[in-house]
Amino acid sequence: MDTRTNIADVVGKEGQDVTVFGWVHARRDHGKLIFIDLRDRSGLVQVVFGPKIAGASDLRLEYVVKVTGTVNRRPENMVNDKIPTGHHEIFASGLEILNASKEMPIPVDTDGYDINEERRLTYRYLDLRRERLAKNLAFRHETIAFIRNFLNEQGFYEVETPNLTRSTPEGARDYLVPSRVQKGNFYALPQSPQQYKQLLMVAGVEKYFQIARCFRDEDTRGDRQPEFTQLDMEMSFVEEEDVLRLNEELLVALVKKVAPEKKIQEIPFPRLTYKEAMEKYGTDRPDLRTDTHDPNLLAFCWVIDFPFFEKTDGGGWTFTHNPFSAPKPEFMEDLLAKRNIGGILTTQYDVAMNGLEIGGGSIRNHRPEALEAVFEVMGFEKERIRRNFGHMLEALGYGAPPHGGIAWGLDRLISLLRAEPNIREVIAFPKTGDGRDPMMGSPAEVDAAQLKELGIAIEKKEQKNN
Ligand code: ASP
Repeated sequence: MDTRTNIADVVGKEGQDVTVFGWVHARRDHGKLIFIDLRDRSGLVQVVFGPKIAGASDLRLEYVVKVTGTVNRRPENMVNDKIPTGHHEIFASGLEILNASKEMPIPVDTDGYDINEERRLTYRYLDLRRERLAKNLAFRHETIAFIRNFLNEQGFYEVETPNLTRSTPEGARDYLVPSRVQKGNFYALPQSPQQYKQLLMVAGVEKYFQIARCFRDEDTRGDRQPEFTQLDMEMSFVEEEDVLRLNEELLVALVKKVAPEKKIQEIPFPRLTYKEAMEKYGTDRPDLRTDTHDPNLLAFCWVIDFPFFEKTDGGGWTFTHNPFSAPKPEFMEDLLAKRNIGGILTTQYDVAMNGLEIGGGSIRNHRPEALEAVFEVMGFEKERIRRNFGHMLEALGYGAPPHGGIAWGLDRLISLLRAEPNIREVIAFPKTGDGRDPMMGSPAEVDAAQLKELGIAIEKKEQKNN
């Protein structure tokens, strides 16, 4: 193909011949002259076709074309201030239609908020053509690229951990994957890489991060997705203060780079104990903004010193956040002696922004007896502890370093920085509120032969209601 000029770059090529590729975004037929707005990933430019250009009258919305022509400055009264190339246009000398398009099932030249979501997701590959979503994807890319560079410079390794793993007790229901080879056994999709990242600390990795996909089979409430992305981190030889400081530094630098129009209300981020937050704001993720009318104001805060355990309905104890957390050092004796259970505070820290939780983590129990005590407090029998967590207790017994970490809900953070009402707007291929992908048609039935291979029988087929 000819050397391609990105549409955004035509402004620097006045008087020159260029070849541009893209989609017909808009079309105005003035008889002798046909005008189109041509779109590529970089932007829009007006193209003018005179009567001699074959094929110009055939152009329709979203046709894919190659246009050769001269970049001209538009007369002053024809300038379009709404687009960056608005002082220029391309006077076409050649046109090639690379592909036609059927009539579009949804418009892509609007912000799309008013279009039925089922339809948007059925045609997500078209929905993503709209400028708003294209910008969201670009923003997401920049965010992740910035995080990768930042953490790389701080000496972190990016390590991938398995998606086929085993059920862990992190509070939500697991997605299960049947094993064909070990019939009757199941993998679980990870709710988070929690155990693997701790095992990487035992392995001596010292500083780990991952842009990690997490899976939780929860009843989808509003802003939740069955699979979502975390920035997951773990560090060895650190205390709470080190993790907070590094994350705060990263958040501040990130906002400055990718969303410079935003203003962070207070740096260092205020820190509240759980008790203070509840007494003062009635929530453990308070909105500390002093001016809620300012859409560019970001009020981050840390919430610390959470109770480790809470009562279950059955009168026993369960963890409030993460069973792998360590208690605050002054409560270690209580944990090991299993006394003062309700009073034990954990090293858990959460980071909230404008009233929403965007991350959380803790310092972990790096000694096996402390982790075992947590499960004992929860009433687990020795045998169950060994069965479910034997590998963790075993691993901690081989010189596990003190360690701690955190995970951010990346979709949520990005949607907030983009002022999007929902994380679905910043995920390329999200599921509907009830966990379906109408484009792929998932979840879907599978062949009887596939089930047979897995040794699985479906109890009873439920009536399909859509
Ligand atoms: N694994 C935890 C979570 O997913 C985060 C952490 O403690 O690092 O919430």
